[in-house]
Amino acid sequence: MGILDRFKKAPKEPPPAPPVAEPTKAAAAAPPVTTPTAPTPAAIQPPAAVPAASKEPTPASTPAASEAAAKPTGFFAKLKAGLKKTTQILNTDIKDLFKTEGRFVDDAFLEDLREILIKTDMGVKPAGALIDQVKVDFRGRVVHMHEVVETLKKRLYQLLEQTEAPIRHADSGVTVIMVAGVNGAGKTTSIAKLTRLFTSQNKKVVLGAADTFRAAAVEQLTIWAGRLGAEIVTGEANSDPASVAHRAVARAVETGADVCIIDTAGRLQTQQNLMKELTKIHGVIGKKVPGAPHEVILVLDATTGQNGISQAKSFSEAVQCSGIVLAKIDGTAKGGVVVAIRQQVGLPVKYLGVGEKAEDLTLFKPQDFVDAMFEDLVPPPARKAP
Ligand code: GDP
Ligand code: MG
Repeated sequence: MGILDRFKKAPKEPPPAPPVAEPTKAAAAAPPVTTPTAPTPAAIQPPAAVPAASKEPTPASTPAASEAAAKPTGFFAKLKAGLKKTTQILNTDIKDLFKTEGRFVDDAFLEDLREILIKTDMGVKPAGALIDQVKVDFRGRVVHMHEVVETLKKRLYQLLEQTEAPIRHADSGVTVIMVAGVNGAGKTTSIAKLTRLFTSQNKKVVLGAADTFRAAAVEQLTIWAGRLGAEIVTGEANSDPASVAHRAVARAVETGADVCIIDTAGRLQTQQNLMKELTKIHGVIGKKVPGAPHEVILVLDATTGQNGISQAKSFSEAVQCSGIVLAKIDGTAKGGVVVAIRQQVGLPVKYLGVGEKAEDLTLFKPQDFVDAMFEDLVPPPARKAP
């Protein structure tokens, strides 16, 4: 139908046929999509015209059987492309500080450097910690850029350090992941990205469209599900989100799915209602599968900067979040916000969203992140070779 055709264009750029690794479960079990009611084109949100960052020489077609197993070069290239806006400003500013060969480290220099760091949105305290380290190492000396950058990198890495935090799977049976965050943060897109990650590992995925308050949200997820080869369970508009979540988890159990991901609303009539709803969904999931949800992922929008920190706090009060996906890092020059989040929110940052496509997700690895931030100034030795 014409309507459906128009509709299919919604998430731009057809994600590549569910990627790679040998189609056993995922591809064989063609998605028995629980068909939603006919969508109204008006309701669909065209993906914002975000600069589809000038990236991406590689990974779309990389047979990344698992993200962790992806070639380091591809993985790193993707991260670097995602951080481009941040690194461009940061690196240019730092280079400007070292216009002359060697700089004397005095208070004026330290203040200039502090300002540059603060511009990345990392926060005043972390910037202060970095400056203190530079002071300890070099005050009263003439230094070269690479020396200062190495010190910054080392200290920054300490501030970001966390144990690697990919998705934690259930010991047996279905892994249930609940996804929360304010409207527009990037929940649905991040779910698509996670789905792609799992289907590329031959995992069978069932999605639950429990954001029933916005028709567009259901439709958007339905399109992704169809493209990525996942089953989706939906409900009528404004139906009880917890019941959709329950049905989705039940369906996942019944079909022997590996992963069930539940989308949720980002806004209800009141903040209190939203939090109540999330608690209810959480409870319903746990009743159906003991120990579930195994992950409660909070999606934050990197372009909103430190705002994310207060969001993290209020969501965590309603449902115990287990980790963060920081979306749209490619859309901001303030990628340093990761540091602020790591410092102020007691949750691991699991993944970074680096674009609008299903493959635009990278596992957050502090060392790689720090290397990518400064690569134009000091290439990380390990990756110097092509
Ligand atoms: P939700 O309301 O939380 O479900 O947010 P959506 O997933 O619908 O995303 C809102 C907008 O942000 C959409 O236009 C997405 O294409 C866009 N978006 C999501 N993640 C990213 C990302 O990592 N990078 C960029 N550039 N855009 C993103
Ligand atoms: Mg959504």
